[in-house]
Amino acid sequence: MAAQESKRARVTRMHDEYDRLCAFIPVTKCQLDYTTPFELIVATVLSAQTTDKRVNSVTPALFAQYPDADALAQANIADVESIIRVLGFYRMKSKHIIELAQALVARFGGEVPHTMDELTSLPGVGRKTANVVLGNAFGVPGFPVDTHVIRVTGRLGWRDTAGKPSPEAIERDITACFPREEWTDLSHRLIIFGRSVCTARAPQCAWCPLNDSCPSAGDFLGAAPATNRAHTSAKRARASAKRTATRTR
Ligand code: SF4
Repeated sequence: MAAQESKRARVTRMHDEYDRLCAFIPVTKCQLDYTTPFELIVATVLSAQTTDKRVNSVTPALFAQYPDADALAQANIADVESIIRVLGFYRMKSKHIIELAQALVARFGGEVPHTMDELTSLPGVGRKTANVVLGNAFGVPGFPVDTHVIRVTGRLGWRDTAGKPSPEAIERDITACFPREEWTDLSHRLIIFGRSVCTARAPQCAWCPLNDSCPSAGDFLGAAPATNRAHTSAKRARASAKRTATRTR
């Protein structure tokens, strides 16, 4: 069990499991559609408490109307609300992205800054959003911690699970065990894996590629579905992981 592992053994296991995740999910990419850093930061703010797919359904119209920070900074909030209405919290999000655009114009000449400190000084931008932007728009290694990363790293015993560690503490613990250049793809893979295999309600432990070493596999295997159903689920989830990882814009 992970709790009895030495730190060195745990890190060795993490690297071995990540190698297998790389084989299982060979291609990674950000799941949000964007063409500029501005579009990515706005899409990431919109993605809070909703799916990337749903965000991708509204951003083409949003960015056609407001292609840059200057345009969005001057937007009428009712117009923005009408475009992103299908998203949860659309009123609050409309306000946030207009305020974000206004701050970009006022403080950064309408450009998205490149550093964690500058990004997190913007309204509505926390470390997760900043890491998404740094890693995907600027090639600066970043490790966004979302609900999937929290769940999967906890089940795998990649980190201390006592109490309720903050996303910042999880980011610190996990990144300390991997080279910087791996951080962005590591986060992508954990998110894809959490969406398609190690899901919140029905993790597919019966066929999971990490089930021989995951300390949580036994917690769920007892409740595994019948073999033929597990096989069907496995095929479906493998296809889902592949689709998620390789979907092109
Ligand atoms: S064995 Fe189960 S709990 Fe462990 S990583 Fe795989 S799906 Fe998640």
